[in-house]
Amino acid sequence: MPDNDACRHRAPRDGAPDDETTVIATPEAVLAGHPVGPRSDGAVCIGCGEALHETDIVFAYAYRPADTVDWIVSRLYCLDCAPSRVRSPTLGVTEVLVGGRLGTIALPTARSHRLCLTELALRALSPPTEGCAP
Ligand SMILES: [Zn+2]
Repeated sequence: MPDNDACRHRAPRDGAPDDETTVIATPEAVLAGHPVGPRSDGAVCIGCGEALHETDIVFAYAYRPADTVDWIVSRLYCLDCAPSRVRSPTLGVTEVLVGGRLGTIALPTARSHRLCLTELALRALSPPTEGCAP
């Protein structure tokens, strides 16, 4: 009789939440619409310091520690400065380089707008099993 329950309570794999709302999505899908830049009107290339504007082609470095579900976008690059691979990958962390364009997302609660990533394509990926210990 308890067959159903035994199935539902199996241990989660990879620390991922084991519930029915979990959806496996690609990094570029998860990062689409992700706000970037410290202010509503500002994002800069970390390589050359050039200001990045809406509709500009940009590349973003993002990472996700193995025990979390949230991606963190920590670096933005212009087309000229974008690296072609993940430099010095870190063990236990999924790291990606994605390329796309800057768009704008409305933040209703804050009643403001932020630049965000759109039209993304994956350029490079480093799985958690690759790299040096942090
Ligand atoms: Zn640049």
